[in-house]
Amino acid sequence: MNYLSQQQLADFRARLRAQKAALLEEIRRELLQSDNEHYIDLATTVHDVGEESVADLLSDLDLAVIHRHVNEVRDIEDALQRIAEGMYGMCLDCEGEVGYERLSAYPTAKRCYDCQDYHEKGFAEEGRPRL
Ligand SMILES: [Zn+2]
Repeated sequence: MNYLSQQQLADFRARLRAQKAALLEEIRRELLQSDNEHYIDLATTVHDVGEESVADLLSDLDLAVIHRHVNEVRDIEDALQRIAEGMYGMCLDCEGEVGYERLSAYPTAKRCYDCQDYHEKGFAEEGRPRL
């Protein structure tokens, strides 16, 4: 079904969760440093939701630095979702294997190398801040 072993998937899940927790902690710190009461409220919420999806909750914040973190959190949540669905490590575009080595380097990789290359050339503007 999946070319990755249960153990490898469990390792990726643990890495992704740790990465997400670290990012959330950083987001929380940044929110607390702001002078905006709404953001400070959100910092508490981020702390409480834990395993839930926080990317949507935070996506309307207009702090550039947080926005970047939120995109990373969203990528991690997507990857965790794909693990849960048994789709992790499968290329979004060609449905081929992303490959264990590539995933080890980029646990949130959604595409195989060739498709990612093509995607980046075709959508060069995607992912850049719209400022
Ligand atoms: Zn592909």
